[in-house]
Amino acid sequence: MSTIKNIGVLTSGGDAPGMNAAIRAVVRASLYHNLKVTGILRGYEGLIQGDFFPMDGKSVANIIQRGGTILKTYRCDAFRTKEGRAQAYKNLKESEIDALVVIGGDGTFRGADIFSQEFDFPIVGLPGTIDNDLMGTDFAIGYDTAINNVVNAVDKIRDTAESHDRLFIVEVMGRDSGLIALRSGIGVGAEAILIPEAKVGLPQLFHRIETGRKDKASKIIIVAEGDEGGGAYVVGEALKEKFPKYDIRISVLGHIQRGGKPTCMDRVLASRLGVAAVEGLLEGKTDVMVGQINKEIVFTPFSQTTKHIDAEKITPAWLRLVEILSM
Ligand code: ADP
Repeated sequence: MSTIKNIGVLTSGGDAPGMNAAIRAVVRASLYHNLKVTGILRGYEGLIQGDFFPMDGKSVANIIQRGGTILKTYRCDAFRTKEGRAQAYKNLKESEIDALVVIGGDGTFRGADIFSQEFDFPIVGLPGTIDNDLMGTDFAIGYDTAINNVVNAVDKIRDTAESHDRLFIVEVMGRDSGLIALRSGIGVGAEAILIPEAKVGLPQLFHRIETGRKDKASKIIIVAEGDEGGGAYVVGEALKEKFPKYDIRISVLGHIQRGGKPTCMDRVLASRLGVAAVEGLLEGKTDVMVGQINKEIVFTPFSQTTKHIDAEKITPAWLRLVEILSM
């Protein structure tokens, strides 16, 4: 029998579409189990400031379809200090919150790992990051929406590229992960995809363009923002010099990738993981992230969620697929 009576929920780090669906699931699952649930505003910053409010079924009504996060999010340097975390713990004790669900990415889990061990405080994390750069889940909440945002944008770019016989270089998000670029690149039929994990250098890219089909009207090259090539502008300059006859344009998609309505896949993932997080806490789980691997719910220690993901998620088979399809 769990002693948990009041669960706090917060969103932290970069926002991701589907975070609202996750908050809703955490609140509704807590109420289902007759627990109190407390909303914490602006991530760890609100934890330190004591910015808490009680949540009920109605406070999460009509949010499942909304991007962003109703709890707001923040990058909080004070939580990196012992004093900051001690203040957060004091606030939690005073408000009689006895467990936390944190929704965020690897930084959020690093902070949660330290805090939960420092104060022996129960925390379960939900993966909320468009970058999908976490171990312990096939997909993070927000990734599916982000890649669909990219695909919708690049399909439009393809129309104009095709009409003008242009080569477009499109830069997508993902920090130092190439996963958004890889999946969306396959989804838009990109002629080449530059991602940090594959280390495709400029000479290789030139070779691919030179040996590619000559009768193609348009070419789309997707560049991950973390690619070692230096981003879309650097690649664009190099291509202009090498292929002066090409009409080259650059498009950096930016923040439109992380906004908007979450896809059904993200809503369902967030809903399932949100319920599993609350039930995991009640079963005594702590210092872990809840994820979904091969359709199963899996709990992974925070310390193992932030290891490098290349081997797991960007396999040679995916890179071969890109090679075959981009001819
Ligand atoms: P994300 O969770 O999306 O990766 P960040 O890297 O910005 O986003 O991390 C979110 C927050 O987690 C940071 O603003 C900080 O408050 C906290 N955090 C990150 N790393 C640590 C750490 N090593 N110690 C304590 N808190 C941390």
